[in-house]
Amino acid sequence: MATPEPILIAPRRRVDPSTTGVAGGAGPSRSWLVRGVRRWFDTSATGEIDASREDRIDWLRATPFVAMHLACLGVIWVGVSPVALGVAAVLYGVRMFALTGFYHRYFSHRTFQTSRAVQFLFALIGASCVQRGPLWWAAHHRRHHRVTDTPADPHSPGIHGFLWSHVGWFLTPRNFRTDLARVPDLAKYPELRWLDRFDIAIPLLLAVGMYGLGVLLQHAAPQLGTSGGQMLVWGFFVSTIVLFHATVTINSLAHRYGRRRFETKDNSRNNVWLALLTFGEGWHNNHHFFPGSSRQGFRWWEVDLTWYGLKLMAALGLVRGLKPVPAWVLTKARS
Ligand SMILES: [Zn+2]
Ligand SMILES: [Zn+2]
Repeated sequence: MATPEPILIAPRRRVDPSTTGVAGGAGPSRSWLVRGVRRWFDTSATGEIDASREDRIDWLRATPFVAMHLACLGVIWVGVSPVALGVAAVLYGVRMFALTGFYHRYFSHRTFQTSRAVQFLFALIGASCVQRGPLWWAAHHRRHHRVTDTPADPHSPGIHGFLWSHVGWFLTPRNFRTDLARVPDLAKYPELRWLDRFDIAIPLLLAVGMYGLGVLLQHAAPQLGTSGGQMLVWGFFVSTIVLFHATVTINSLAHRYGRRRFETKDNSRNNVWLALLTFGEGWHNNHHFFPGSSRQGFRWWEVDLTWYGLKLMAALGLVRGLKPVPAWVLTKARS
């Protein structure tokens, strides 16, 4: 599956007036700060990239990511309630499905069709996961499939180590950009390009919505024992951080631990625990052998919640043309 592609994408250089230090009289360090903070909200504000820092973690850019982890410690002060845990679990489930069913199996691999409205709805839910927009996600994932477990793979644990493949690679300037050349089929939709540029707006709205829901419940149903702060911490921060770490286990752990049913050129594995955690994505060796199927659990006993969800959506007429696993694929299986 993996075709070696030794040449990395040449960095696109764009001169940003704020980097010159003359815009508005700002000094170089202040303009660096302004540009960095602007990138939290507008991912098109890349500015001029210092080539020597392309593959180093941009800590200013990473600050909100670190802060979201620290915000989970808020559980110490806000306490917990069944309703807060329930909302956190529902948001984990719905958003995991949006990532696996749509960011991965639809936007990245085009394994089924849907309407423009459903496409945008699930792009919005996917963006609420704080894993960037659908174009960024799909472009990097398509790259991963082309160069899996080679030095050009953005997140190979065998090449770059566990930590880098889990939480490091996407914090670098090189991987901050969206390579639109990899996703021309998605970039033709202006609403998706907008979402990819301002993706952070969606999780911010979700966070505000969670706080508002908590305040509302505190007044309307005080017996539930929740509050704005509690719903914000559990419903948004804890749910999003757990969702994030579960998702990226497929980059880090699913290329290290598990069984290899197919002789692929990469190190992808099938792992039942990761499949349960990620709604079917843990059947990663299956997926690398044949990425063109909407289904990743190839045997009936390989639990694939995303596939069941997509089948349900197809029965409701929301998606169509789900691609099954071809018979020839199973003849190549070792088990
Ligand atoms: Zn992989
Ligand atoms: Zn894939």
